[in-house]
Amino acid sequence: MNPEHPASWPWHPELLARPVPRYTSFPTAAEFGETGADPFASNLAALPEGEPVSLYLHIPYCHEICWYCGCNTGAANRRGRLANYVQRLRDEIALVAATIGHRARVSRIAWGGGSPNALEPAQFIGLAEAVADAFDTSSAVMSVEVDPRAFTPAWSDALSESRTSRVSLGVQTFSPTIQAAIGRVQPEASIVQTVALLRKAGVESINFDLMYGLPGQTPGDLRESIDRTIALSADRVAVFGYAHVPHLIPRQRRIDAVNLPDAEQRFRSAELAYRCFTAAGYAPVGFDHFAKPGDALAIAAHSRTLRRNFQGFTEDSAEVLIGLGASAISAFPGALLQNEKNAGRYGMRIEAGQLATARGIIRRRPDRVRARAIERILCQGAADLSALPDLDRVRRALRPFELRDLIEWRAGVVQLTPPALPYSRAIAATLDPFRVENSGAFSNAV
Ligand code: SF4
Repeated sequence: MNPEHPASWPWHPELLARPVPRYTSFPTAAEFGETGADPFASNLAALPEGEPVSLYLHIPYCHEICWYCGCNTGAANRRGRLANYVQRLRDEIALVAATIGHRARVSRIAWGGGSPNALEPAQFIGLAEAVADAFDTSSAVMSVEVDPRAFTPAWSDALSESRTSRVSLGVQTFSPTIQAAIGRVQPEASIVQTVALLRKAGVESINFDLMYGLPGQTPGDLRESIDRTIALSADRVAVFGYAHVPHLIPRQRRIDAVNLPDAEQRFRSAELAYRCFTAAGYAPVGFDHFAKPGDALAIAAHSRTLRRNFQGFTEDSAEVLIGLGASAISAFPGALLQNEKNAGRYGMRIEAGQLATARGIIRRRPDRVRARAIERILCQGAADLSALPDLDRVRRALRPFELRDLIEWRAGVVQLTPPALPYSRAIAATLDPFRVENSGAFSNAV
């Protein structure tokens, strides 16, 4: 997308009034139904030899649970439970590799959760070795999500030993007052120390996750967190709007909603982040990420090879993603398939020697056309919509954006104009036939 922006982002609240998905997949997980494990087994068995695959390993445990968090995670307070989960994950790695039937080439290994560093470093190394035994990981890029509150020198050694080159830190905000209001008290010293340890361990790319739309958060608070992020020289930054949906995420009931910023304040926060990071020399990536120009993510955005998957914007080009662990989602061109969400039920399935997939959706050709177009809108700011079966309906749905000069048409290609960046998700949602009726389960578009 053209990074040039007008003096101030134009505010059209009527275009952002409808909650929309983040579109880390299409169809979204809200459309998943019961599938059992058969589609997963058949997709694994049909993987062509030599086809690069990405792996995602989900660790659904954290040292402390943050009140805002919508992830599938629980407290890592019972060693036996964690050890049991690690064993099931090892079993699943072996089972999936056996079902593929050849030594699949892995281009990317992403560890997320929860907090992978809720594990003992030795457990992490053991799992990484199990992956290397089961797959060809000789050229794999390894990335790990890290909770700075629980990061230790021993973990730094484990990342170095496993040749981890990317780490994402949950930072959210540097403000102690706001940290208390969201149940994530995280002294700045822990972030500074974690960054120093990661650099020493040879990690090339460090991402900071930041949040706006937090209770009581002023533009000054956000600015302060952005300035600290830049001062600590984060290579990548993801800036998320907090979605307050306590009816869906009960732990958010502990957050006092009285002081939450309103829709326009959220919009201006996203704009502030955009302006600060681009002024500091970061390249905008998609609608909410930023990266230093030499970082692989910025290079992908510049060369128009940026992709979007369950981890957000990525330079990973693999068409197949295999999710391992409770609730992990696998993506094949023809299907999205999710493991049992509950760690106990997941463990029982694996212990019984079965693949753990429970839910998902089969993607027919029209779904794949739509998925690619949505991804293009979010990653490149333009998409050829001429193959959409409901192009007339989509054109009508896009008319309000066209009238406000946020999109232009060139034959069947829709092109977002520079001021359309904060409207990207809302524009993408017009392609989604599932959203015409149903939007209750999603967050504000900014
Ligand atoms: S550490 Fe991360 S995954 Fe764990 S509860 Fe907090 S935000 Fe959620």
